[in-house]
Amino acid sequence: MPVRRITAVLAHPDDESRIMGGTLALAARRGWRVTLYCATAGEAGDPSMAAPAVAQLRERELGAACRALGIEQFRLGRLPDGGLADADVDAVVEDVVRHLRAVRPEVVVTFGPDGRSGHPDHIAIGRFTEIAFRVAGDPERHPEHHRLGLAPWQPKRLYHTAVARSVAETLGWPHPSLPDEDLVRVDVGETFDVKCRAVMEAHASQWRLSPWNVTAGWEPRAVEHFRLACFEPGQGRADDLL
Ligand SMILES: [Zn+2]
Repeated sequence: MPVRRITAVLAHPDDESRIMGGTLALAARRGWRVTLYCATAGEAGDPSMAAPAVAQLRERELGAACRALGIEQFRLGRLPDGGLADADVDAVVEDVVRHLRAVRPEVVVTFGPDGRSGHPDHIAIGRFTEIAFRVAGDPERHPEHHRLGLAPWQPKRLYHTAVARSVAETLGWPHPSLPDEDLVRVDVGETFDVKCRAVMEAHASQWRLSPWNVTAGWEPRAVEHFRLACFEPGQGRADDLL
């Protein structure tokens, strides 16, 4: 059986754990190779500390979260936290294309146009990732990658993280939500404990600043939702992510 591969392209350390930690851990448990591109080091995540110290701390925390979830490799874009929307589009897309060509995923997950919480960094990295998804397989784009030993690679499916309407209503989330029937549902009950450890223990600095009530929201939180956004002809399976 060929190894299956999934990569997440996100904005901040802890996005991978809080938003889709259950799904990534489930993929790893099922034998997928799981990787991550994180655009920023999250240096704006704690205004009470100097940015370089926060970045260092959060990079360490991200490493611990990846070990907990089974993400075997992560790449930090080191772009400005809070400033992704103003980043040089071509440069970021090139970096994401390089990541996709290096890890050769079948499935890519990122943010949709709602940015999940509306965070401008989330919206921006989602947009850059969609462009990268469309050009990573084109040999005419960034032929200089050949010198790095990277060949063109076309991932098959791109999903956006999404908040299902039922979850938003149950938990009283103000986030933009989408009708449940338009979304792929991943039941992460099996890996919810791993996700909680990644969120609460690995990313302790952020958990301290914004905890949630785990016990009150267990059931709706043990499901993660995605929307199929782009796919190769014949490869779209909107009812299945893994
Ligand atoms: Zn984020």
